[in-house]
Amino acid sequence: MINNYLSNKNKKETNELLVSLRRYANDHKVPIITYEGINFLNQIIKLSNASKVLEIGTAIGYSSISMVKNTNCIVTSIERDETMYNEAIKNIKAAGLEDNINVIFNDALLVDETQLGEFDLIFIDAAKAQSIKFFEKYETLLSDKGVIVTDNLVFHGLVVAEIKDRNLKQLVRKIDTFNDYVVNRKEYDSFIYQIGDGMSVSIKRK
Ligand code: SAH
Ligand code: MG
Repeated sequence: MINNYLSNKNKKETNELLVSLRRYANDHKVPIITYEGINFLNQIIKLSNASKVLEIGTAIGYSSISMVKNTNCIVTSIERDETMYNEAIKNIKAAGLEDNINVIFNDALLVDETQLGEFDLIFIDAAKAQSIKFFEKYETLLSDKGVIVTDNLVFHGLVVAEIKDRNLKQLVRKIDTFNDYVVNRKEYDSFIYQIGDGMSVSIKRK
């Protein structure tokens, strides 16, 4: 009810390309960030004055394109799936944002991160079982603005569900482990929000 009320009050997504990417994602079951989630992320980018963003998990480029269009940041994004990568490149071209978004076609765990430079904000949104690995590999690149946002931490509510399937159960257990990990990292002030599919914000302590 409240969700309905707020989605009626809030402005809808109007950018034609972003609307069509969301439709494509729906039709092809590509798990892009929710509309609430991307608004939250874009506002964090603005509030923290982040200008360089690293994204782990590009998919079709929806979140990259939205971040750049709404905040003027520069994005480096990593994607390991070839179909997704090609789709993202096509969409970024269509948006005319080739100069603002650099997509790296590789597994984020294999990328030589020392070549990427520094980032003000890191958005972790790839394989959910690997979030701790991504966090620890890429936090080394954080500037002193230092914000890490991680997505899908309630995983469609499955973190509190009774799950039979062994693989799914293991995946959800790993997300639960990440959630404990992220709020307990002493170098960051972290909080997990019930926004979108569950998002943590971790701010590096000065
Ligand atoms: N950030 C996107 C959605 C990403 S979906 C958006 O909100 O618009 C997650 C993506 O991460 C998938 O496309 C998947 O192929 C990619 N991925 C998963 N594990 C990865 C890894 N280890 N390295 C790079 N990409 C990965
Ligand atoms: Mg996500």
